[in-house]
Amino acid sequence: MATLEIDCPVCAEVLELSDADRADLAVGDVIVCDSCSAEMEVTRNGPGEEFELELLGILTVCPACGEEFEVTEDLLAAAPTVESADGSVVSVVGCPHCRARIELEFDDA
Ligand SMILES: [Zn+2]
Ligand SMILES: [Zn+2]
Repeated sequence: MATLEIDCPVCAEVLELSDADRADLAVGDVIVCDSCSAEMEVTRNGPGEEFELELLGILTVCPACGEEFEVTEDLLAAAPTVESADGSVVSVVGCPHCRARIELEFDDA
């Protein structure tokens, strides 16, 4: 049985979808990454490699106030990035609850 491998756009974890998994998915369904909890909406589900996802948002728990909030692609696009001490690039987003500045790190973003 063919298995489709999708790289999570956020953490680059490989998500494996078997034919059976894909048969259960319709356009508009949401897949959640096991590793980083990013939510991706299925935008195309055809035969073979015809499969596309759109990143919806990443549920993040604010380390300052403990509230959950969603980091969307738009929010990330607007977020300034800073280089941390070890050379990795992090995005800085503001918590909508307490306004704390939170650094989000992504692999090869
Ligand atoms: Zn992920
Ligand atoms: Zn907060």
